[in-house]
Formats: sequence, C-alpha cells, structure tokens
Amino acid sequence: MNNDYLEYKRKMHAISDMSGISSLLQWDQEIFLPAKAGELRARQMSLISGMIHEQLTNPNLLAIIDRALKNATTDTIQSRNLNTSRKDILRKNKLNRTHVERSALIISHSYEAWENARKENNFDVFAPHLEKIIELKRSEADMIGFEEHPYDALLDEYEPGMKTSNLERIFRQLRTGLNALLNTFPLVQKDDRFMYHYFPKEGQWELGLDVLREMGYDFERGRQDLSTHPFTITFNADDVRVTTRIDENNFHEMLWSCIHEGGHALYEQGLSAEHSGIPQSEAASLSIHESQSRLWENHVGRGMSFWTGYYPKLQTRFPSQLKHVNVNQFYAAINRVEPSLIRTNADELTYHMHVIIRFELEKQLIDGSLKVRDLREQWNEMYKKYLGIEVPDDMRGVLQDVHWSHGSFGYFPTYTLGSLYAAQFFNQAQKDIPEMEKHISTGNLAPLLSWLRKHVHAQGRLYTSEELCEQITGEKLNDTYFLKYAQTKYTALYL
Ligand code: ZN
Repeated sequence: MNNDYLEYKRKMHAISDMSGISSLLQWDQEIFLPAKAGELRARQMSLISGMIHEQLTNPNLLAIIDRALKNATTDTIQSRNLNTSRKDILRKNKLNRTHVERSALIISHSYEAWENARKENNFDVFAPHLEKIIELKRSEADMIGFEEHPYDALLDEYEPGMKTSNLERIFRQLRTGLNALLNTFPLVQKDDRFMYHYFPKEGQWELGLDVLREMGYDFERGRQDLSTHPFTITFNADDVRVTTRIDENNFHEMLWSCIHEGGHALYEQGLSAEHSGIPQSEAASLSIHESQSRLWENHVGRGMSFWTGYYPKLQTRFPSQLKHVNVNQFYAAINRVEPSLIRTNADELTYHMHVIIRFELEKQLIDGSLKVRDLREQWNEMYKKYLGIEVPDDMRGVLQDVHWSHGSFGYFPTYTLGSLYAAQFFNQAQKDIPEMEKHISTGNLAPLLSWLRKHVHAQGRLYTSEELCEQITGEKLNDTYFLKYAQTKYTALYL
C-alpha cells in the first residue's frame, strides 16, 4: 500500500472530524443556542474555520498528495481521490486564513440578524449584514478567479465546472418548457382546503418520524429536531441529523420538508464512513444532493403509488381531518399547481420560477448591478413578473430563505439542476427495477433505496455530476425527462 496515500487519508480524516465539530456548533446554533450566546458562538465558529483552513492549506499535505499521486496508477479510485483533493486544496489556497475567519464571524452574526429580521418582518434589519456578505463574496470571487462572470467562481464551490452562461441557457429552456406546459391546461383549482385545517403538532411530529422510518432513515445514526429553516447536517456518515418545522394550520409544511430532508439524509447515511474525509465518501455535488431530496419529495412523496399504500395510515392518524377525503382528493390536493410566495412550499412546476428569480438576483448582486438597498423592491417586482403575484411582506418575500445569511451564493441553482437529475435518475430506476411502482404502492421502498445506494451513494465524489449522470443513465443531463414526467402527471390531473 502506498504509504503517502495512507498518510493523506489519515490527515483528511482528522480534518473531516474538525469539520464535524464545526457542524455541531452550527447545528446547536440553529436549534438550542441561548439568545445571548451569539457572540461567543461566532468566535468559536470563526476559530475552528481558521484551524480547518490552516490544516487543509498546510504545504505538507499538498506535498504528501503529490508524492502519493506519483505512486498511484492513473484513473483508479486512489488517483481520483487524490486529484479531487488536490483541486480542492488549490482552491482553498487562494483564500487566506484572515478571510476565512472573517467570513465565519460575519456569517454567524448575519444568521442572527436574519432571524431577528424575520421576527420583526423587516428586511432593513438584515440588509446591513447582507451588504457585508456580498462584499465578502465579491472579494472571494476575485481571489478564486473567473473567466466570464464573477458568479462562476462561487458556483464552482457547489457545482464544479458549472458556468453562469450555461445555467442561463438551461433555465431559459426550462422556463419556456414550463410556461408552455402551464399554458396547455386551465388550472382548475383542486380543493385543498382540508390541508389548512388544524393538524396538531404532536401528530405531525410523529408522522414525520414514521415517514422517515419508512424511507429507510436510520435513527440510530441520526435524529430529528425542530428549526426555523429545515436542514440536514452531517458530522459523519454515522451521525446525520435532520430538522423540520411544523405549521399546525398548513399540512404541506412539515410533510414536504421532512421527506425532502430525509432524501438528503439517506444520501449522507449511504456514504462510506470508512473513507471519511476523502472524496470517495463525500456527496458528488450539491445538485446531486438535491437530486436525492427532490426524487424522494416529488417522485415518491408526491406520487400516487406512495399514497396508495400510505394513505390509510395517514387517515388513521388524523381521522377527523381526513375521514371525508379519499386518496384521489388527497393526491390532487398535494399536487395543486398554483403560483405561490414560499419556495419550499411551492408545487413542483412553479418551484423553478422561485429558483430562477434567486439566480437572477444573485448574479446581479455579485456583479454589482443590483444594490442590497434595492433588493426588496427588485424581489417583489420579479415575483410579479415571473409568478404574477404580489408579495405582502418581507417574511413571505426576501427574508424567506436562510441561504444568503449563510453566505451561500450559487447554491439555489442546484435545486433546479437537482430536480432535472432526479427525473432522469427516477426514469432509469423505473427501467432497472421490475415493478418498482408496485413495490412503492405496497410500502416497500427498499428496492429504490438500494438502487440509489448502488448507483449514486456508493460513488461518492469520484465522478463529477455530469460523469455520474452519464454513467447511470447513458446520457448527459437532459431536461426532457423532467418535462415529460411533468406533462404526463399534470395532464392526467388537470385535463
Ligand atoms: Zn435540499
């Protein structure tokens, strides 16, 4: 065995444990942190981010990787791991420790400000923090370097190799396809008033746990808690946690966030704990991550097969709310298509308009053509233009997502890319697994999960999103699978 390779693995493992500690601090901040502990937590997170950065950019680690690469045969798992880590480190080398520590400090404060702004329903509370974040991100893009658009440098962190110009093309084509589809049928609204009846918190909480169990989430290697914005966080493959939020008068809220985060968590639990810290045990990219959450959320969770099996259990759990609602009415209600304000609660067609709006705004904020002080107005205008709706307040507008307070610019596009990958993967799974829909309708989700484990999870980050997609489906990413799926499903529902 290549000794340098073993040394590389040992060092990366240690760095990944430090990242796990940093994630634990973040998890605690979003769930339990006392109000006055924000300043201390910001310092702690800044310190550990600096330490991780120092370990990763230590010239000794790069030297070990270079030596190991000399002894590794080309295009093996070893060489793929080494080359990917090498690329990551070269990217990190472009950022100095002061920048990394400052970023962590600003982000931690900014998250607090975002929460306060939401409580006051006032974007102005968050705006000065967002200005600092934009400035950070702009300088980060300069340090990383880019050829066409500064946003490319930021995108690369979440979706390696993706370019702004490429996304513009993909989104333009998708928007055209979606608008054409939405125009083919009159959106006679399905009655979904029962979804807004009173569903007690305890019942919803228990339902969430049960659905996660059905999906195959391992509670001995994870747990669920409540948070302002639902998320999945990984300390390593043996500790993958999810959060959800519950609205007692909106049954959509918990259900979709729970299945969505469950999809992310299954991916993380399916990565190899043994190779922790190296690309082989990491997610391929954020869009592949989103492909997993969107696949479970939409293709399973919003599908008729799943509810054929699960609906009687749901009715038993909420007898007074659902006794007069049959499974067809429930299916129609959970697939109601209607332009709405909140991205995370949007139907799977108009959802992408929310993403495209954020992409357009982020691009402009990063290239400087849009100022933070004009963001609210611009947001509201775009909601009118893309979705035809008025934004009544900041909570349901520009303050709804946590991402900008985390400094995550370039993240949103991965939601749409993930949905496109999800449709393409699900189509392949249907071909590969005999009677898959029948299994799903009898509550047997194991064949689908094993398929995902084998084709997606076990591959880690040994391949790029594009390579993985070609390996699994024999083709590059192609939006026709998503559009075909959407057309078949919604034509049946609305025509
Ligand atoms: Zn997600």
